[in-house]
Amino acid sequence: MQQIGHWINGKHVAGAGRTADVWNPATGEVQAQVALASKAELDQAVADAAAAQPAWAAMNPQRRARVMMKFVDLLHRDMDKLAEALSREHGKTIPDAKGDVQRGLEVVEFCIGAPHHLKGEFTDSAGPGIDMYSMRQPIGVAAGITPFNFPAMIPMWKMAPALVCGNAFILKPSERDPSVPMMLAELLQEAGLPDGVLQVINGDKESVDAILDNDTISGIGFVGSTPIAEYIYSRGCANGKRVQCFGGAKNHMIIMPDADLDQAADALVGAGYGAAGERCMAISVAVPVGEETADRLIEKLVPKIEALKVGPYTSGDDVDYGPVVTPMAKENILRLVQTGVDQGAELVVDGRDFSLQGYEDGFFVGPHLFDRVTPDMDIYQQEIFGPVLSTVRAGSYEEALKLAMDNQYGNGTAIFTRDGDAARDFAARVNVGMVGINVPIPVPLAYHTFGGWKKSAFGDLNQHGPDAFRFYTKTKTVTSRWPSGIKEGGEFTIPVMD
Ligand code: NAD
Repeated sequence: MQQIGHWINGKHVAGAGRTADVWNPATGEVQAQVALASKAELDQAVADAAAAQPAWAAMNPQRRARVMMKFVDLLHRDMDKLAEALSREHGKTIPDAKGDVQRGLEVVEFCIGAPHHLKGEFTDSAGPGIDMYSMRQPIGVAAGITPFNFPAMIPMWKMAPALVCGNAFILKPSERDPSVPMMLAELLQEAGLPDGVLQVINGDKESVDAILDNDTISGIGFVGSTPIAEYIYSRGCANGKRVQCFGGAKNHMIIMPDADLDQAADALVGAGYGAAGERCMAISVAVPVGEETADRLIEKLVPKIEALKVGPYTSGDDVDYGPVVTPMAKENILRLVQTGVDQGAELVVDGRDFSLQGYEDGFFVGPHLFDRVTPDMDIYQQEIFGPVLSTVRAGSYEEALKLAMDNQYGNGTAIFTRDGDAARDFAARVNVGMVGINVPIPVPLAYHTFGGWKKSAFGDLNQHGPDAFRFYTKTKTVTSRWPSGIKEGGEFTIPVMD
């Protein structure tokens, strides 16, 4: 059985204690065991990272940026290898796995601009003979705790900005698909990152708690489910760290009566069932406005959903989505589907009996479509994170908007319409962090920032884009006056520049 340890000081290091199983979701087999770090292992890795950080921070920003430049080349070189390893542990299709690497790579590309982003501010002659400047300095040792569903993209969103700012970084990836983060660490070493500056520590709650309580770590970025995001945010903040946590989602797509319904149905199928619904930006709630729109939309959706091809990543391009990540995930999805049936929603496409010949032990879940879902139902209230789309019929645009606004989550949302006024009104009023207008999954590009509102994010800065440089640096402002400008003796009132 393959053993996956940690990446510490530029080497693979075996774990010293507990392990967890890593599945191949397509076959249902346990294909590896991953080490779960203890507090002592985590603390030692952090101490080593802290020792390596000052020399890395002292390197000029252009040279740090060149490490990122080389890293981009290596990601392209190893794209096939990375995608295969990713699909084998996560289950998503190979094209989707390449997208996972690509959207991470784009943030690395953005980080090549670090010398520009780190330039700081300067005021010449702020007073007589006085200059004032602000510089951005690394926060020291930062940590990232990441989820299973984007095992390449999210680790890169965290570590690339942190590292290029001159920090050391402790990555605690998901224990469900740990191989790709380890491969990324190898590539960063090949790209010229000094040993010890990036430590990949595999683990579960024990190592996360060790991160939260470690005095050397000064910033934590988390992505995962909302209950864990809230926990990490409150304990990390209580321990005096800067913390940003991105949580779960329930993304609504509003379909106006004037929308192109063929386009809307295609968008819903891709955004609802792609990656088996295991995306924080997946559309899980369709909100057609008006009974006629709803009837026509369902009519268009059903054949498209029934035609979806579900299969293992090894089937190449001939598959729309693969299995979900673990047997527990599958069980949870089917349990929630059952609550939908029990609570009176109409199950228009029923994927409960889905089974794939030759892959009966894989964690495949057939596509489900619910109609006439109401906001009190569990399938509406909870994040299902599976190939299940719920339709909530709204009587008017205002009712549809209110539904999205009253929801506890606020990650992404979309409106499909031909009416510019409605689209503009929606974008201005909705209390959700990322909005699509005729775009079902509005994930911002690397040079903008990514982040939800309400229970989808905790903390005041977003991921990537300019916010990443703000999160991973602290500002120091220097006021300088040289002896030739000093004329008076001691001053006892607060200085003003009048
Ligand atoms: P998860 O919360 O189970 O795990 C995320 C991380 O937290 C993992 O590294 C895990 O080891 C750790 N963890 C798990 N339980 C813990 C505990 N009790 N104490 C401390 N640490 C713990 O999330 P997941 O299942 O890996 O990922 C899916 C979730 O992530 C979904 O809710 C999805 O919406 C969310 N997500 C959000 C975004 C976003 O940007 N908002 C992006 C991707 C995924």
